[in-house]
Amino acid sequence: MAPTKKNPSKTDPYKSLKEEAWEANIEIPRRNLAIYTWGNVSAFDPDKGVFAIKPSGVAYDQLTPESMVLVDLEGQVVGGKLNPSSDTETHRVLYRNFSGIRGITHTHSPYAVAWAQARRSVPVYGTTHADHCAAEIPCTVIMDAQAVKNNYELETGNLIVAMFQKKKIDPLHSPMALVAGHGPFTWGKSAAQSVYHGAVLEEICKMAQLTLAIDPRAAALPEYIIRKHWERKHGPAAYYGQKK
Ligand SMILES: [Zn+2]
Repeated sequence: MAPTKKNPSKTDPYKSLKEEAWEANIEIPRRNLAIYTWGNVSAFDPDKGVFAIKPSGVAYDQLTPESMVLVDLEGQVVGGKLNPSSDTETHRVLYRNFSGIRGITHTHSPYAVAWAQARRSVPVYGTTHADHCAAEIPCTVIMDAQAVKNNYELETGNLIVAMFQKKKIDPLHSPMALVAGHGPFTWGKSAAQSVYHGAVLEEICKMAQLTLAIDPRAAALPEYIIRKHWERKHGPAAYYGQKK
């Protein structure tokens, strides 16, 4: 009998993707973005067309890289023993429509949820917001009964995509959205960056709410200051931070 070469089961091509998803998921409780299991993160590999996502209903401290579930862009589970997050279809719709994103985070962080429940987009009140997003953080319309009946989680993704298309928002420039009556979805160039944006969004929503508590008629930041802050961090001549 010919000697076998390498045991294929030992070389998991999704090892790093699952580790990336796991690390990002355990960042959710560290940043106080969700209690219990109220949040999920996925990491996407566009070359393989597969994302790794949190298993449904498993506490963060019970998660391991191996427990992450692999799903393809057709919605088929292609790896893992557990059921994927109930929000998997929302993640799938966003990966299919927002090219260039490689990680998605969904939480129920309270300030972001409060704005979503009030069904309000978050105006750019200050430079903290402008540093990360050069426009208001958009909030969807409330989902209609038919869409809920059809496929709730998939239609949640469709609501976000339709809003970005209608308002002509570039998802790479505005990596955050609120789903009316529900909560925040954020994304990024990696799973870790999507969690970072989830934490940033929570702070922005908190600051906006405090601003309105002091002055309910507070004005949005002038466009020229918004531009300045966005450009110095993300523009072609960005100078924020250290040179690579
Ligand atoms: Zn949710």
